[in-house]
Amino acid sequence: MNFKTIAIHAGHDPKNHLGAAMPPIYQTSTFGFRDVGQPGPYDYSRSGNPTRAALEECLAALEGGRRGFAFATGMAAETTALMLFSSGDRILVQNDLYGGTYRLFETVFRKQGITAEYVDLRDLDALRAALATPAAAIWIETPTNPLMNLTDLAAVAGLARAHGAITICDNTFLSPYFQRPLDLGIDVVMHSTTKYLNGHSDVVGGALIAKREDLCDRIGVLQNALGTCAGPQDCYLVLRGIKTLGVRMEEHNRNALAIAHWLQAHPAVSEVLHPGLESHPQHSLALKQMTGFGGTFSFRVKGGEAQLYKLLRGVKVFLLAESLGGVESLIDHPATMTHASIPPEVRQRMGIGDDLIRLSVGLEHVDDLIADLDAALAQ
Ligand SMILES: *Cc1c(COP(=O)(O)O)cnc(C)c1O
Repeated sequence: MNFKTIAIHAGHDPKNHLGAAMPPIYQTSTFGFRDVGQPGPYDYSRSGNPTRAALEECLAALEGGRRGFAFATGMAAETTALMLFSSGDRILVQNDLYGGTYRLFETVFRKQGITAEYVDLRDLDALRAALATPAAAIWIETPTNPLMNLTDLAAVAGLARAHGAITICDNTFLSPYFQRPLDLGIDVVMHSTTKYLNGHSDVVGGALIAKREDLCDRIGVLQNALGTCAGPQDCYLVLRGIKTLGVRMEEHNRNALAIAHWLQAHPAVSEVLHPGLESHPQHSLALKQMTGFGGTFSFRVKGGEAQLYKLLRGVKVFLLAESLGGVESLIDHPATMTHASIPPEVRQRMGIGDDLIRLSVGLEHVDDLIADLDAALAQ
């Protein structure tokens, strides 16, 4: 079946729930045993919950995986994935990525003896050189947040497999509607379901999806042992959001591309970073491995701090806020907001300058969004 059909039906059979069209929220911590020594299909909600199972099955179907796992937050999903590794393991990490992922590697896992080594994954020769020393895993984010650099997933997955490294791809920016990393040979897909999958800015959540049976088993054990799982209310909300993922992503994509083209022609804008523009250095890779570009992208404005702050304060429809992927449009200044946890010198080296602005383009009418940016940029 097609993606939009799977998104609405996978994980839930009304026949098993008194005909209910929507999966019920099993708001319970525990489940009665059938008899002494005989639990039913569920015994305790950390180990498993029917509402969570519905979401997990749906996520697995959408990403083309064997099993999906729902977590309390995207960071809980990342923490669980990194617990697959042990002290002494070396992980090659995309050199520009979500600030919280960088912080997790540096402030938590480095102390546990799991060391991140940052590599520009656009440069396959650099990756080959880094793989000359054994690596347990490669952590990928594509497109990267906020610079919109792409990684060739099939190429990196091939190199990793040849060197015995597990590949993990943060697929938050595109969602499975526009990119399916498992199909390209990636081992584990990670999501902040807070973003496009839920899509309504009313829940924080995370997910892991894997295809390899050994990885599925190990992640399942970790989810229960660590207790990083999502609660039933949140799972219900994410499931509800997923039903409209396809139509939302198409509109996010259309609106964002229209705004990117408009910004490119604006005299106050020095650069637009959007993989759907022909000016993007990896535009052909985008067309090869993605079926759309999503709703989030960045641009650089001319002038100094004063001009920049006028823009950030001047918008009325765009909300100055972190996060992305919701129905409402957000404007973010990575240097002082989402990426402030990265030391300034590292940030500068990455290219996340003070002139960089990130937009999460929502589902308002695109004419109103452009008028809003136009008025703010005019200042
Ligand atoms: C938001 C985000 C995360 C972290 O997810 P939370 O749900 O906020 O914990 C990880 N990766 C990317 C790309 C994100 O945008």
